Amino acid sequence: MKSLAKRITKITPSATLSISAKAKELKKKGIDIIDFGVGEPDFDTPSFIKNAAICAIKEGFTKYTPPSGIRELKEAVVEKFKKDNNLDYTVEQIAISCGAKHALYNCILALCNPKDEVIVFSPYWVSYLEMIKLVDAIPVIVKTKEADNFLPNIKTIESVITKRTKAIIINSPSNPTGCVFSEKILKEIAEIAIKYDLWIISDEVYEKIIFDSANHISIASLDKKIKSQTVVVNAVSKTYSMTGWRIGYIAGPSELIKAIDNIQSHSTSNPTSISQKAALAALNGPGEEIYKMRKEFQIRRDFLVSQLQDFKDVSFLKPQGAFYLFLNISKFFGKKAKNKILKNSLDVTEYLLEEAKVAVVPGSAFGDENYIRISFATSLEKIKKGVENIKTLLSTIF
Ligand SMILES: *Cc1c(COP(=O)(O)O)cnc(C)c1O
Repeated sequence: MKSLAKRITKITPSATLSISAKAKELKKKGIDIIDFGVGEPDFDTPSFIKNAAICAIKEGFTKYTPPSGIRELKEAVVEKFKKDNNLDYTVEQIAISCGAKHALYNCILALCNPKDEVIVFSPYWVSYLEMIKLVDAIPVIVKTKEADNFLPNIKTIESVITKRTKAIIINSPSNPTGCVFSEKILKEIAEIAIKYDLWIISDEVYEKIIFDSANHISIASLDKKIKSQTVVVNAVSKTYSMTGWRIGYIAGPSELIKAIDNIQSHSTSNPTSISQKAALAALNGPGEEIYKMRKEFQIRRDFLVSQLQDFKDVSFLKPQGAFYLFLNISKFFGKKAKNKILKNSLDVTEYLLEEAKVAVVPGSAFGDENYIRISFATSLEKIKKGVENIKTLLSTIF
C-alpha cells in the first residue's frame, strides 16, 4: 500500500475529543464520571429554533442551497454585525459555513501558501495549529502568561514577524483561558497588523458568553483600515447551544469571501439547508435565551471561583468570558500521587480521572503544560461535587 500524505503525519487528533471519549468509556462501565472536559453548552437548543428546523423539513426546504449559504441568512448575519459589533458589511462580504471550525479552516486555506507563517497566541484553542499545518503553513507561537491576564506582549509579537508572516489569529473571549482582550491590546495588535500588512483572523464564537463588566470588542470595528484586512469568524454553536447543527459564519473582504464560496462549492457544498433555517430563526429571535444561558454560566463561574480561590497550590485567571477555568497545577509536579510522580498536565488529568472521577483537559492540548482546563458547561450540582472531589484529592498530595 502506498503511504498516506505527509501532512497527515504532522497533525495530532483533538485531545479534547479524546479525553471525553475516555470519560464516556468509563461511564459505560458504570463508573460515575463528572465531565469537566466538555467544550459545548449543556443546555438544550431553544425550542423556537428547533421548530424552525421542523418547519423547514415540512416545507421541503431540503435541497441544495448556494454553497456559501442562503441570502436571508446572510442578511441576518449582516444585521447581527451591525447591531452587536457596529460593523457594516454587505451580503457579498458574508459566507455561511458548517460551523466556526469549518469557517476558520476555509479562511486559513484561502489565505496561506505553503511555508507562510501564522501567529498564534498560546494557550491556544486546540485546532488552530493543526489547521495551519494541514495547509502546509507554519504556526508561530507567542506565549502569554497568567500574570499578564493571558494578553500577548506587543513587542514579542513584533519580534517574531518575518517576511513570511501572513496572519495573526485572535480568540477573545478565549478558549481555554477565559480572558477577554481589552480595547488597548486590540488597538496595539491592529497597529502591528497594519504596519506589516498582516491579516487578522478573529475567532469570536464566545462573544455572548461574557461576565461582570467585561465588554466584547471586535477588532474589525476599530477602524476601516483594520476592517479591510480582518476576517471575523463566529457561529451559532456556542451562543445558542447549537453545536450539532453546524452553522458558522465569516465576514471579510469580498475577494476572500468569493474564494471561500469557491472552496465550499467544490468541497462541502452548502451548509445543511435545515440548519440554515434554524440559524436564521436563532439570529432573528428574541435575546432572552442567550441572556438566560449567560446568567447561568455566570452563577457557575462565580461558584467555581469561590471554591478555588483560597485553595492552596493552585492559581488561575478569573474567567471573563467563555465557560472554562484554566487552572495552574504545576505546583504538584514532582510530587508523588499513588506511587507515581506527577510530571505534566496529562499525569494530573489521568490522576483526576482515575481517583477523583473527574474529567478535565490537560493544558498540553492548548500549548501550556502547567494547566488543566475545567469546563463549567455542566450543572451547578455536578460542579459542586466535581470541585469538591478535585480539592479532596489534591489535598492528599504533599
Ligand atoms: C467551539 C469552538 C470553535 C468551533 O465552533 P463550531 O461552530 O462548533 O465549529 C471555534 N473556536 C473556538 C475557540 C471554540 O471554542
